[in-house]
Amino acid sequence: MSIAANLTELKKETDRLHVKLIAVSKTKPKEEIMEAYQAGQRIFGENQVQELVDKYEELPKDIEWHLIGHLQTNKVKYIAPFIKLIHSVDRLKLLQEIDKQAKKNNRIIDCLLQVYIADEETKFGLGFDEAIELLRSDDFANLKNVRLVGVMGIATNTDNPKQIKEEFYELKTFFDGIKQSFFRKDEAFKEVSMGMSGDYKVAIEQGSTMVRIGSTIFGHRETKI
Ligand SMILES: *Cc1c(COP(=O)(O)O)cnc(C)c1O
Repeated sequence: MSIAANLTELKKETDRLHVKLIAVSKTKPKEEIMEAYQAGQRIFGENQVQELVDKYEELPKDIEWHLIGHLQTNKVKYIAPFIKLIHSVDRLKLLQEIDKQAKKNNRIIDCLLQVYIADEETKFGLGFDEAIELLRSDDFANLKNVRLVGVMGIATNTDNPKQIKEEFYELKTFFDGIKQSFFRKDEAFKEVSMGMSGDYKVAIEQGSTMVRIGSTIFGHRETKI
């Protein structure tokens, strides 16, 4: 099927369930992104800063760009002028740098806390305890140019659906807990970014509000990143 057809099919499903669809376009050329754009998609996710900046500069300006991959502190400045949502905040230092760069650009940048839920050593993210420690800290309270709007997690890459389901359940439960404790009156804190091509259906069942989907739309990637 074509990119447009894949997207339309998927969009029917996510729209019906009121879930936001992030089209993950990493490694894909601009022509393919434009195909999705022509089919109506406006939210795209990338995981590398340089690639994201290049695409931002050359593609239509009404695209909403999300960073979904690991972010180095020294690269925040390149995306701060335009990034719509950073899914991958996994340490206070990074949040402080985003705050600083957002301020320089006279903006408030929306962020998600990436929380570690997988049974794998390679995935980035804060542990539940570390996330709570961050939220309780005075350093966090002092940040004025970042807005936390929810959490993000990546499940274990496994064929075991029960395990994936439990990991998503844990993330949603954690989200509900910190919503109660730290963001009760904050309507903006409402996003649970979980679910990729292989597991988005389970993620939505478990309360995802945003799915990040690449290969189901654009086909297989050559490089596995
Ligand atoms: C690549 C990537 C995705 C999309 O993966 P697919 O399996 O192609 O849907 C989602 N989230 C993150 C963080 C990614 O790096």
